[in-house]
Amino acid sequence: MSGFVYNEKPIRIASGEGPYLYAEDGTEYLDFGASYAVTPVGHCHPDVVSAVQEQAAELLFVHASYPTDARDDLYAKLAAVAPEGLENVWLNNSGTEANEAALKFARSATGKSKLVAAKRGFHGRTMGSLSVTWKKKFRAPFEPLVDDVEFVTYGDEEELADVIDDDTAAVILEPVQGEGGVNPATKTYLQAARELTEDAGTALIFDEVQTGLGRTGAFWACEHADVTPDVLTTAKGLASGLPIGATLCADWIAESAGSHGSTFSGSPVVSAAAEATLSVLVEENLPEHAAEMGEYLRSELEAADLPVREVRGHGLLVGIEVKRGANRVLKELALSHGVLALPAGRSVVRLLPPLTVDTEHVDTVVSALADVLGGNE
Ligand SMILES: *Cc1c(COP(=O)(O)O)cnc(C)c1O
Repeated sequence: MSGFVYNEKPIRIASGEGPYLYAEDGTEYLDFGASYAVTPVGHCHPDVVSAVQEQAAELLFVHASYPTDARDDLYAKLAAVAPEGLENVWLNNSGTEANEAALKFARSATGKSKLVAAKRGFHGRTMGSLSVTWKKKFRAPFEPLVDDVEFVTYGDEEELADVIDDDTAAVILEPVQGEGGVNPATKTYLQAARELTEDAGTALIFDEVQTGLGRTGAFWACEHADVTPDVLTTAKGLASGLPIGATLCADWIAESAGSHGSTFSGSPVVSAAAEATLSVLVEENLPEHAAEMGEYLRSELEAADLPVREVRGHGLLVGIEVKRGANRVLKELALSHGVLALPAGRSVVRLLPPLTVDTEHVDTVVSALADVLGGNE
């Protein structure tokens, strides 16, 4: 056996530039899944590539117990973009690790045990993050997982109020559920979660691994609801494809985080890639651009009058609930139209392109969707 776990697609990718991926045979693909939200500034952005090349030539690695300019520059950049009060940064290597740290820190800072998560939520595949992930298929083969976890209906304030008690260490939520079908939370639900957790001395964790970095049209999705959690996690596109996660914490969490560590925390090359990615996001006003393009995308989808059940989302995180299997639609989009997108569950086609896309790219995707699904185009 060689590789396993993934069912590989019949397209061998050789290179990437901006919103495009190129197969070995030269076929061009418009990557409207941003390779799982990993390329917010596009594939191989020249600033990121040169930051990586320069840092690699200088110093590939030194452990986090030695300060480096690369890591300090990233700390400063992350603190500058963090929601106010979340300037304490723990760097790790993936989304699941960012959440793993968030859950550990919440337990140690509160001295409490119970973890509350949402049905249809997705937080990663390592044992702790998996324990607060809803989907049975992901969990069942690996049980028993971490115990003392309760799931609540996403969006139901009363249920949340009932479940939070004196022993609740954390409530973990995505401001928009990604894998679970692109389900945005209402502002009032997130505000209720903030109030309830604050009253109970419970940490509120927002998993912004998919919704962060400008994706929803604000730098962090929690800004739309005027809510600041105690811990915010980010990963995916933070280093444009190099492995990274970050756990941003309030002072009271960081002060009693407990013992934790990771060999690769803030390694120089990855830090340089992340610093460059954040600089591009800020300098090119990409969150604002994502808001505009998201609106354009949704209005064009509406105008195309596609025979679908629903279009929902926020900024450039859009879910289209189709009437047949999403995977069949995605396959046709890829093979007949050179458009790559993602599923979110069985019946939702998820669009989350690089934030750099323009109207012409949106037009290409909407007309491809109209062709595959049948519509007015
Ligand atoms: C992708 C994702 C994760 C897991 O990130 P990995 O880097 O794959 O471990 C966690 N939470 C959310 C919301 C995600 O979208």
